[in-house]
Amino acid sequence: MINLVDLKRQFQSVKNEILQGMEEVIDSGQYVLGPKVKELEGKIAKRLGVAEAIAVANGTDALVLTLEAYGIGLGDEVITTPFTFFASAEAISRVGATPVFADVDPVSYNIDPADIERKISAATKAIIPVHLFGQPAAMDKISKLAKKNNLLVIEDACQAFGSSYMDRPVGSLGDAACFSFFPTKNLGTMGDGGIITTSDPDLAGKIRKLRTHGTTKKYYHDRIGYNSRLDELHAAILLVNLAKIDEWNQKRRELADRYRQHLGDVEYLSMPVESENGAHIYHLFCMESDRRDELMKALINAQIQTGVYYPHCLHLQEVYAGLGYQQGDFPIAESLSEKLFAVPMHPFLTEKEQDQIIAILRQKDGN
Ligand SMILES: *Cc1c(COP(=O)(O)O)cnc(C)c1O
Repeated sequence: MINLVDLKRQFQSVKNEILQGMEEVIDSGQYVLGPKVKELEGKIAKRLGVAEAIAVANGTDALVLTLEAYGIGLGDEVITTPFTFFASAEAISRVGATPVFADVDPVSYNIDPADIERKISAATKAIIPVHLFGQPAAMDKISKLAKKNNLLVIEDACQAFGSSYMDRPVGSLGDAACFSFFPTKNLGTMGDGGIITTSDPDLAGKIRKLRTHGTTKKYYHDRIGYNSRLDELHAAILLVNLAKIDEWNQKRRELADRYRQHLGDVEYLSMPVESENGAHIYHLFCMESDRRDELMKALINAQIQTGVYYPHCLHLQEVYAGLGYQQGDFPIAESLSEKLFAVPMHPFLTEKEQDQIIAILRQKDGN
């Protein structure tokens, strides 16, 4: 079986470094929010050129705590894309605010600034662009819109660690940014984790307080918070993977080029298109086809894993029926949900395996 991601190969490649990091944690006697977490926060802030990085329990919490720290809640609207993982909208609902969707661009699959503009109301407080599949959203236009309308921009960078936009790193482009370290993300740990990056010290202070039960002084609480901390073991693992991330992202880009080179001429396939301002890191490699089901079946029959990101748009989710959206409201996102499928993409995919995948996809009748 050729898998979409191969975490076993990834972690085996850095097993000795990870074991050493784990040993250091064991010997340190500190297991939650200790020196390894501090080191990780410092390294990520420095790399992104931001003042602060605050590690939390997962990427969803990163979004929730950021929204809550900004005071966004009941009666507020936050604009995001309907074509993303559920957590992007779930976090907005979790703090009591209302997700308002804007359709995506058919080429980048990212939120369309023109549609954001149409969705801005008096209640809008923030925009959450998602850097989908590792490709940065149109941050120049989004930032201009936000400035003009006095809105916050919170990047959902959960799929895009290491990518950049106009030579500035993702995670440094909005007022704040949220990353996930779920194992399958391009920078992941062996469990859950997340981080918020920002250059706003006031926001950072509030998030630090929220992640530990609303306290800055032990046993004194001045607001209701969360238990959303990162463990030292995860920080130790992430420090090892962080040192590899540029090499791994580069490998993804090379494999993406190879897919394009060998499949770009196939008439029933459309390859992902890189925006001229953004450096895609291919957290996922998704292609478009009217013959998706047939191609996916052929891949599965050849022991090649595929997946659909995302088969059901967020505005059509049962839980959001109350928001009053209809089928047809976001035609681009809906069409992508019927045509996109992912093929294996990870730094440890061999060219030989990739050639097998390419051969299956090139078969005209797809079987
Ligand atoms: C994974 C992901 C999240 C949530 O991250 P978790 O760590 O799983 O909570 C949020 N947004 C996007 C776009 C994601 O891909």
